[in-house]
Amino acid sequence: MSNGNQKPTTTDAGIPVSSDEHSLTVGPDGPILLHDHYLIEQMANFNRERIPERQPHAKGSGAFGHFQVTGNVSDYTKAAVFQPGQKTDTLIRFSTVAGERGSPDTWRDPRGFALKFYTSEGNYDMVGNNTPVFFIRDPMKFQHFIRSQKRRADNGLRGHDMQWDFWTLSPESAHQVTWLMGDRGIPKTFRHMNGYSSHTYMWINAEGKRFWVKYHFKTNQGIDFLAQEDAEQLAGTNSDYHRQDLFNAIEQGDHPSWTLKVQIMPFEEAKTYRFNPFDLTKVWPHGDYPLQEVGQLTLNRNPTDFHTEIEQAAFEPNNLVSGIGVSPDKMLLGRIFAYADAHRHRLGVNYKQIPVNRPVVPVHSYSKDGAMRVENVTDPVYAPNSKGGPSADSHRYPEMATWETNGEFVRAAYTLREDDDDFGQAGTLVREVMDTAQRDRLVSNVVAHLKNGVSGPVLQRAFEYWRNIDKEIGDRIARNFDAS
Ligand code: NDP
Repeated sequence: MSNGNQKPTTTDAGIPVSSDEHSLTVGPDGPILLHDHYLIEQMANFNRERIPERQPHAKGSGAFGHFQVTGNVSDYTKAAVFQPGQKTDTLIRFSTVAGERGSPDTWRDPRGFALKFYTSEGNYDMVGNNTPVFFIRDPMKFQHFIRSQKRRADNGLRGHDMQWDFWTLSPESAHQVTWLMGDRGIPKTFRHMNGYSSHTYMWINAEGKRFWVKYHFKTNQGIDFLAQEDAEQLAGTNSDYHRQDLFNAIEQGDHPSWTLKVQIMPFEEAKTYRFNPFDLTKVWPHGDYPLQEVGQLTLNRNPTDFHTEIEQAAFEPNNLVSGIGVSPDKMLLGRIFAYADAHRHRLGVNYKQIPVNRPVVPVHSYSKDGAMRVENVTDPVYAPNSKGGPSADSHRYPEMATWETNGEFVRAAYTLREDDDDFGQAGTLVREVMDTAQRDRLVSNVVAHLKNGVSGPVLQRAFEYWRNIDKEIGDRIARNFDAS
């Protein structure tokens, strides 16, 4: 049968096939022939469609856009992407943390806010969250933390008891747990939440002067949230609510945007600041380090193939361009290894050759071979060489993101400073940032969460944990728990 003007179906080798519907058999009623290579290609391909899901941040959605610099931060960084007037193409992926790839968008959870800037100096990734802080401050605890949020070994169920067990035995989680149990723990949509670097990074200017910096992407759509009941209802009726909202908004030309602002700390000040500024469980108060505008992030293009452009997108906080570096934040230093390693496992060693992960500038690396390499490697394959191969330019690209330190090798917490504690900033959030209605919802959210399977010593510790954050809130949680 002729298909008129339609393109003919082909095999993956481009060979036209004779049927989309019938396998090759011995007579219409006979057995299927093994040499029906097209049928076998279809079945084999189908069996391999799923790649390992991310562990964590499995459920996500993304879009393309650009970043336009509107401010002037050239005194602080020489990174081309942040120079006045610069416009750079970007990719963003939003996600939940604990749920699997098909889990509801509206579960209470922090959201990932991962950005790739395709800069003229190579790819720059900022892999942040919609919260300015995190549950822990040492990467040794990260695996345990995520396991406590995922599923039990015996029945495969998520368990609030193990979540509170971990949190109450890890008091550094108090700030992030307070944030999570408040209104911002379930954003209305991805468009209605802020993004934060959470970590402190280093910025280096053209003179080589170093600064510490925290990023805040403030939503221009306004902050909005879902009440627990509405989120639960949506989880049942439309588990892709946030994905759909993002896609539809962009499709309809309602392009969401965020204003990037930064807090800058002079390099030397970090040594004597009243608490450790690299501790990921703390914010820098705006009163001490005010926000300065950098530019606008706008999303204006949906993916056309979710798998190749979003599922295979690989963000890694080690993708840092000249003028931007790491800080002594132990969580950040751990993530510098973990992300690229996750991509090697999930996508294969040559994942940076997948179009969405490719930089817009030429790559002259000495990486070679490996599964799924698609770009040709040319000789010489070693350095140093006298054959015209790439050669590192330490004059133009010196190692600048450095700081000095000394001490014995130890396994220890950060050295405590005057204002280092686990509960202070969580208490400030409850007492000075939340209003009465927000505090009421906080209490109700915590009580409902605890009612879902938390008992015995873990429950008693949870009441104490909240009393340490704020005596009155802790007492109310205990009272309301008993009364409901
Ligand atoms: P500020 O009053 O200057 O800032 C308060 C911040 O709290 C604002 O950035 C606001 O974000 C955010 N906020 C408002 N409501 C909530 C909520 N329900 N849950 C979480 N965040 C909320 O005070 P400080 O800078 O001195 O910080 C005080 C406390 O505010 C901190 O202990 C921290 O818990 C919280 N916070 C501080 C941030 C920082 O970087 N300094 C960032 C976010 C929270 P917005 O303006 O976007 O509405």
